[in-house]
Amino acid sequence: MLIYLSFCFSSKAMESHIYVGQPFRCPMTDIPPSHPRRASLLARERLVEGVRAGIVSEAGLIAHGRGEAFDYLLGERTTDEAVAACRAAAALLLLARRPVMSVNGNVAALAAEQAVALAETVTGARASRGAAEGAMPLEVNLFHRTEERVRRVADRLRAAGARDVLGEAPDARVPGLDHARALCSSQGVGGADVVLVPLEDGDRAEALRRWGRTVVAVDLNPMSRTSRAAHVTVVDELTRALPVLARETSALAGAPGGGLRAISEGFDNAACLRAVLGRMVARVPEVDLGPPC
Ligand code: ATP
Ligand code: MG
Repeated sequence: MLIYLSFCFSSKAMESHIYVGQPFRCPMTDIPPSHPRRASLLARERLVEGVRAGIVSEAGLIAHGRGEAFDYLLGERTTDEAVAACRAAAALLLLARRPVMSVNGNVAALAAEQAVALAETVTGARASRGAAEGAMPLEVNLFHRTEERVRRVADRLRAAGARDVLGEAPDARVPGLDHARALCSSQGVGGADVVLVPLEDGDRAEALRRWGRTVVAVDLNPMSRTSRAAHVTVVDELTRALPVLARETSALAGAPGGGLRAISEGFDNAACLRAVLGRMVARVPEVDLGPPC
């Protein structure tokens, strides 16, 4: 045992590999599909790789960990409440005069392809409805902003197929926010009426709402300021939520405007957050605390 431990801790490879109990190196990409924590471990690997690539801030790793804890309580699955929130969000994106999706480092590292796919789905659905400004652009908005990191996040989105990425040449500011995190593009967040902010900080979500934007968030913590500030919060893990949001957008693409308004106006965010929190609380006494087999 001592030999095994000293092997692990003396190995340079500890920096890039996770050990799952066997006395040999196990690169995460080799984790078998049957591993019960595979999805979670792969997400961590994507974020760590994102830090190395200059896309994710170190604080982004901690933010992800806080989200993981809530996902544990949620049972790591998409709830009926999350689907209902995605439906309301889809209605808002289809009705919007100008929607935009804000992308930060964690979103780019975890779900660049899904973000691009969602933007294309929303853009296509809006075009099919004859929307005057059909496209939903992606805009890079970083909490810990450096110009280099903005460029790298934009490059990651372009590599995933995004055509127009905003955020590299900001020309507007979100009122009420200090420092560089207020910077935005007048073609994107600055001129939008509906802003999709997956993984947003509470300060910025509140400022966007005060600025008159309709805010749609994805956040695993139903108690966060972001979740409470948003008009619609999808309490789900980002990589599960984005495809559901795309699916609901496609499903509603042909719905009449009155039907979409009924869906968005009938959605009660506080009630939805309470229901999800209730699920988490109710699950706790039922958790099996026996040894895992
Ligand atoms: P707020 O600023 O909104 O009050 P906070 O300060 O507690 O929230 P932040 O550090 O701003 O939290 O953001 C981290 C939050 O982002 C986590 O608590 C989690 O809810 C959410 N989050 C992180 N990773 C994911 C993910 N992959 N999917 C969904 N939500 C996530
Ligand atoms: Mg915060």
